[in-house]
Amino acid sequence: NHLLANRVQTLTPSATLAITAKAKELKEQGVDVIGLGAGEPDFNTPENILQAAKDSMDKGFTKYTPAGGLPALKQAIIAKLERDNQLAYKANEVMVGVGAKHVLYTLFQVILNEGDEVIIPIPYWVSYPEQVKLAGGKPVYVEGTAAQQYKITAQQLRDAVTAKTKAVIINSPSNPSGMIYSKEELAELAKVAEEKDLLIISDEIYEKLVYDGVEHYSIAQLSASVKARTIVVNGVAKSHSMTGWRIGYAAGDASIINAMTDLASHSTSNATTTAQYATIEAYNGSQEAVETMRQAFESRLEVIYPKLSAIPGFQVLKPQGAFYLLPDVSEAAQKTGYDSVDDFVTALLTEANVAVVPGSGFGAPSTIRLSYATSLELLEEAVTRMHNFVESKW
Ligand code: PLP
Repeated sequence: NHLLANRVQTLTPSATLAITAKAKELKEQGVDVIGLGAGEPDFNTPENILQAAKDSMDKGFTKYTPAGGLPALKQAIIAKLERDNQLAYKANEVMVGVGAKHVLYTLFQVILNEGDEVIIPIPYWVSYPEQVKLAGGKPVYVEGTAAQQYKITAQQLRDAVTAKTKAVIINSPSNPSGMIYSKEELAELAKVAEEKDLLIISDEIYEKLVYDGVEHYSIAQLSASVKARTIVVNGVAKSHSMTGWRIGYAAGDASIINAMTDLASHSTSNATTTAQYATIEAYNGSQEAVETMRQAFESRLEVIYPKLSAIPGFQVLKPQGAFYLLPDVSEAAQKTGYDSVDDFVTALLTEANVAVVPGSGFGAPSTIRLSYATSLELLEEAVTRMHNFVESKW
């Protein structure tokens, strides 16, 4: 297409979009579809945060802020990183952007030269490869298999490094697998990063959604030298149910943060002022709602996990965090007569009226991803539908 630049010719739309569009179409025709594709908490933003946003508008705080974020918000983020992660940063080591997604986009733009490689563990969040490619970089995939709990090993990382490797992405807890790297596993990976002089991009957006007493640990906590080569990316979308507010941030090396801020000053300018004020309250105010939502997710997981595991041909690892389940359904797809899991997913939608995301979008084509960010009642109904569908066709 001559209207479009080369850089977008191979851009693939987000894997969740196609299925969401189809589900919407069916809904509009009056079909009772249950959507388990969502990547966002189903709770409203906590009241104290809404109030802080309203107050800021009433006070007239409706103008531009510094491109990298309000000083008071940076202080609230610094306090959060200290309190939750025992990480100390200065204001020039933190930048606020328009959601963690755009912060990552900006980060790749400022660190990658043409042909630089970024190691992306499979299964991956859909936007990493596209963002790396848009910055001229090359995604290099390393597969964390189900037998490895969808995590990569230090040896795999070492084997994937070339002279062009610039960075490795660690997303723990992971979207889509919900798996969490232990401190020991992170230490092994960090050792390779130090040996090979790699930047570590640590996407910790699901930090607050951890279950079974498992604790989140940031790779940057390992040592001062690991911290110096790590860019921590986080935000309030998942922790405080603030997906639509679009606030994320990065913390790390001052020169990288400075370049990101300069780039933002020419692209987005600041993140929306009202949303920044809301986020100050999200971090400085009561954290009670964060824990209440976490508990709600955990209790749903406890109900839904055994039921999902009971579906014939579904192999399900119990996630430790985030709000997704990633069953391997290759056997179910095959036994019910489908050539691929993608076809099985389409049939689940059109015949069982349950929308899930095919794992092919995450580099794990034998799996499907379903989100439990929806009511328990709907979740149970959805799993029953899938179970009946599989049994009727087996
Ligand atoms: N990183 C991961 C792994 C995600 O799943 C998401 C959201 O789906 C993001 C980053 C982006 O979050 P935000 O809404 O802050 O852009």
